[in-house]
Amino acid sequence: MTQQCAFVSQLSSIEQQSWLDKLNAKLSNAQVVPAGEMSISEKQKCKVAVVANPKPEDLSEFPQLVWVQSLWAGVERLVGELDNPSFALSRLVDPMLATTMSEAVLAWTLYLHREMPKYLAQQKLAKWQQLDYKCASERTIGILGLGELGKLSAQVLVKNGFSVCGWSNTKKVIDDVECFFGHEGLEILISKADIIVCLLPLTPDTRGLINNEFLTKMEKGTSVINFARGAIIKHHDLVKQLDSRHIEHAVLDVFEHEPLDENSVLWQHPNITILPHISAPTHIESASTLVVQRISSFVSSGKVPECIDIAKGY
Ligand code: NAP
Repeated sequence: MTQQCAFVSQLSSIEQQSWLDKLNAKLSNAQVVPAGEMSISEKQKCKVAVVANPKPEDLSEFPQLVWVQSLWAGVERLVGELDNPSFALSRLVDPMLATTMSEAVLAWTLYLHREMPKYLAQQKLAKWQQLDYKCASERTIGILGLGELGKLSAQVLVKNGFSVCGWSNTKKVIDDVECFFGHEGLEILISKADIIVCLLPLTPDTRGLINNEFLTKMEKGTSVINFARGAIIKHHDLVKQLDSRHIEHAVLDVFEHEPLDENSVLWQHPNITILPHISAPTHIESASTLVVQRISSFVSSGKVPECIDIAKGY
């Protein structure tokens, strides 16, 4: 018998339909149905939900939920809004996403490494001036977070000749990457890095981690890239450090409130590059294949796939 799985999202109807088409075309033992089209009794029996930015109150209409699969890699907002959920929660872990993120990390590291913000500013002034060249091995890139995205990004930077170090909660071993963990490890990474790339999840421990104290410990003239979650950086503190030229440049792809308010001072800051949350978009083809494999396996075995640790927050 085909099992019904709920699709709970705040996506536009066009986006929702393209996910439903992809998922249902590949599923044989289950069908994903928009929550809004399910009867009350269907909702009460439903064990699986596929979600994309769901409202927690929408999930509470499904009292028998055993397992919820998110279509996004980051589930911080959902974890923060759920009150002791009775179901297990999986996030999207897709090698394609890690490849896309590592490409973005390389692209914007090169952007800073090859002084593109400075040459752009010079061009605006019709100023012809060659800046000193440093080779990649003379730049140390510090990656905060050595998980699915951080590890591959570190390896791609190593392949491109950079000196790379990384920081995580638990000790890691990655070829040619100097790995640190814990409070002392963070202090060492901060002191070494010319560019810090943030790929941490947003948790109570990482919220506001990149604040005045953190930024003043960085060497003068260093830069920051945030591809994780906006609230990990205290933007007021960052602007202060950019204004004093202690920090050279910041590339920001994520913000506490998105889209970024058009009146935000961040838009006009000469030493900030703003990106509209594009560093690693979900690839619908590969993500839907992975989600279908997980749903099929759950329906045939009853075994809940790998889930996040809700208490830890990632
Ligand atoms: P992940 O596999 O869960 O890895 C998280 C890493 O952060 C792990 O290495 C973990 O250490 C480390 N970490 C967590 N809390 C820490 C702490 N307090 N101190 C030190 N290290 C800590 O996550 P991921 O798949 O790499 O994704 C990371 C984040 O990227 C997501 O949570 C999401 O916010 C963001 N993201 C952004 C985009 C975008 O387009 N901008 C796209 C996808 C994801 P341990 O391994 O030791 O536990």
